[in-house]
Amino acid sequence: MESVLILTHADETGAALTKPSLEAISAGLELSTRLGVSIAIGVVAPGPIALPKSLPCAVVAVSGEAFAQPRYATDAAACEALCRAQKPSIVLAPASSRFTRVMAGVAHRLGGVIDTHITAIRGHAGIEASRWLYRQRIEAVITRDARPWFLLLDAGTHAAFTADPSAPAVTIEKIHVDLPALRTTVTGIETPKQDALTIRPDAKLLFVAGAGWTKKQPDGQVRAQEAGELILGFLRASGASLGSSKSLVDQGEGQGGNSVLPFLTHMNQVGQTGATPRHPKGLAACCHGEEPHVIGWRFIAERRAISLDPNCGWTRGKADVVYIADAFRVMAKVNELLAARSQS
Ligand SMILES: Cc1cc2nc3c(=O)[nH]c(=O)nc-3n(C[C@H](O)[C@H](O)[C@H](O)COP(=O)(O)OP(=O)(O)OC[C@H]3O[C@@H](n4cnc5c(N)ncnc54)[C@H](O)[C@@H]3O)c2cc1C
Repeated sequence: MESVLILTHADETGAALTKPSLEAISAGLELSTRLGVSIAIGVVAPGPIALPKSLPCAVVAVSGEAFAQPRYATDAAACEALCRAQKPSIVLAPASSRFTRVMAGVAHRLGGVIDTHITAIRGHAGIEASRWLYRQRIEAVITRDARPWFLLLDAGTHAAFTADPSAPAVTIEKIHVDLPALRTTVTGIETPKQDALTIRPDAKLLFVAGAGWTKKQPDGQVRAQEAGELILGFLRASGASLGSSKSLVDQGEGQGGNSVLPFLTHMNQVGQTGATPRHPKGLAACCHGEEPHVIGWRFIAERRAISLDPNCGWTRGKADVVYIADAFRVMAKVNELLAARSQS
C-alpha cells in the first residue's frame, strides 16, 4: 500500500508556503484521492506558518531559526527527519532551488530513488510520472518499483491549492531534527537591482524581444537605446517576464554580456536551445517566429506577436493574433496607456 508525503517550504517572508509548494499539495491530494491512499504534508519553516485551512490530511513540520535560510545541511536534515517520521513510499516536492539542491541527497539517505522535472502524475493501478526530454520533444512516462520514490515537480504544472476559508485551522505536529555541525553561515542575500530581475517565472505574461529591435529601421537608423528603454519600461509597468530570441542574445556575446541590450543574457533565451517557460500569455515583438524559437513557446497558451513582416512565422499559424506594425510605435503607445492607467 502506497503512502504519500508532500514536502513543502516557507517563502522568503517565512510566514507562508511558496506557490510551487501549494502546487505540490494539489498534485499530492489528486494522487492520493485517485489511489485511495494516506497522505501527509511536511513543512520546513522558521516559525509558525499560515497554512491553508481545510487541508484534508496530517501536517508535520520542522521549525526553528536554522530553517530561515536555504542551506544544504539544514534543509537536507529537515526533509530527512520529515520522511523518517512519516515513512512514505512516495514523496512529492516542488522543484524550487532550495529543494532541488537537497532532494537527491535526501533520497539517497533514505535508500530511495528520485526523478526530477516531473510535469504530471497519472495512473490508477500504478503510478506513472511524466517528464519531457530532448528540449521538450519527447515525453517520457516513468514507472518504478523502488521505494521511497521522490518526485520533484516542475513549477506551473499544477494549480496552486486554495483553501476553504470557513474550515477550521489544521493542527500541526512538530518533528524534532538533530542538526549536524553547521559549517555554512548564511550572512544575507544579495539580490540584483529590480531592473535586472527580468526573468519572472510567476508573471502572467512573457514578453519576447527579437533581433528586430537592434536592426536598421525604416528611417535608416539603429535605435537600440530607445529599444532598451521601451522594453524595460514595459516590463516595469506590466510585471511581464522577459524572453529573447537567440539572435538577439547572441549579439555582443563574448564581452561579458549583451553589449546592445545589457539587461539580456542567455538565461532569457527562449527556444530549442533555450528555455521553455510556462506563462498563460506571450507577446513577441521584433521577432520572426521561426520554428527553433517557437518550439520554446510550447507551454504558452495565448500568443500574440508584433512584426513588420506579414510573412513572418507568427502569421503562419504560430500565433493567435499578429499585429503587422512597427513595434517601436506600438510599445510606446502601450507604455503610455499603462502609465495613464497606473496614474488613474
Ligand atoms: C539548431 C538551432 C537551434 C536554434 N535555437 C534557437 C533558440 O533556442 N531560440 C531562438 O530564438 N532561436 C534559435 N535558433 C535560431 C532561429 O532559427 C532564428 O534564427 C532566430 O530565432 C531569429 O531571431 P529573430 O526572430 O529575433 O531575428 P530575425 O530573424 O532577424 O527577425 C527579426 C524580425 O523583426 C522584425 N522587425 C524589425 N524591425 C521591426 C519593428 N520596428 N517592428 C516590428 N518588427 C520588426 C523583422 O521583420 C523580422 O521579422 C536556432 C537555430 C538553429 C539552427
